[in-house]
Amino acid sequence: MSGVEPGATIGILGGGQLGRMLAMACADLGLRAHVYAPETGPAFDVCAEATLASYDDEAALEAFARACAVVTYEFENVPAATADFLAAHGRVDPNGRALAVSQDRLAEKRFLQSIGVATAPFAMVDGAADLKAGLVRLGAPAILKTRRFGYDGKGQVRIDAQSQAAAALAAMANQPSILEGLVAFTREVSVVAARGRDGAFVAYDLCENEHVDHVLSLTRAPACITPKAAASATTIARRIADALDYVGVIAVEMFVVGEGAHETLVVNEMAPRVHNSGHWTLGGADTSQFAQHIRAICGWPLGSGRRRGRIEMRNLLGAQALTWRALLAQPGADVHLYGKHQARPGRKMGHVTRIFPEAEQ
Ligand code: AMP
Repeated sequence: MSGVEPGATIGILGGGQLGRMLAMACADLGLRAHVYAPETGPAFDVCAEATLASYDDEAALEAFARACAVVTYEFENVPAATADFLAAHGRVDPNGRALAVSQDRLAEKRFLQSIGVATAPFAMVDGAADLKAGLVRLGAPAILKTRRFGYDGKGQVRIDAQSQAAAALAAMANQPSILEGLVAFTREVSVVAARGRDGAFVAYDLCENEHVDHVLSLTRAPACITPKAAASATTIARRIADALDYVGVIAVEMFVVGEGAHETLVVNEMAPRVHNSGHWTLGGADTSQFAQHIRAICGWPLGSGRRRGRIEMRNLLGAQALTWRALLAQPGADVHLYGKHQARPGRKMGHVTRIFPEAEQ
């Protein structure tokens, strides 16, 4: 394969803030971004080309595929049929297997277990009988999650006793689900890493994530865990990426169980894309996750992931973004705004990264 040259067009499915930052990375690398999405969004403001069409519009998809040297996506709920159609017309990275595995929590758990990666205990739930049996086997409390389309805590409900089972199923609208045993974690961490077409692998330092109402609020890098556990987190991410013959940036969210020498890792989920917990790399690392993803899918050399200090990345959720003027006035605050017009509660409007010298907390 001859590879992609500067000046080529990169296709991005999805028009949100991740697409926006990917499109800006394309521009930095001398590439043109073509965004394809069914509705306008933050990515449309910064791309060279845009297609506003549904994901099943085959004529629009074909024209898009023809215009792009490689197609990628900014969210994992791209319909499989769309990805397959595009893959039949050109190159799509990350590949269809990575997309399929990360679209379905059951497939994801089975895949992880098949490669020897620890997950929360789980049971498949296709109705009341499955849920009852699952609760007996896993015990309560447990979490019922829809297999598909869940994000930021949407599509999941905690069950504290068998008596809550019927209400939980109703809350899931009886969609195919999985029941997960509750993991008593001490921290939530994620590995953001890239794998190139040649199998090269570059992981950023492990970061630690705090959520508010299930939405990421704060990421700190590095995570405060033992070097041994941090190394094993990276090894897990690499095993996943290698097993999928993955190309691009991948994020693997994990729970840390126990403390100090007793720390172990349980994978919660993976995202076949750039990830909110990797936003700190924009300015906080030698190569941002966005530039790294574009390099990887183009078959270009991966950049250094070296961290440039101790990092704190705060999301600006909903009305928090209204403080933008004060934030801009703060020395050392690297403010990114996504250009969204309505600051609905919990909506990701932007983020702020702060870099401190290594010694400071
Ligand atoms: P998810 O949508 O799977 O990323 O879950 C959102 C958040 O819910 C996670 O970041 C955890 O804080 C919590 N959570 C999800 N699954 C579990 C679990 N099995 N045990 C404990 N907490 C969980």
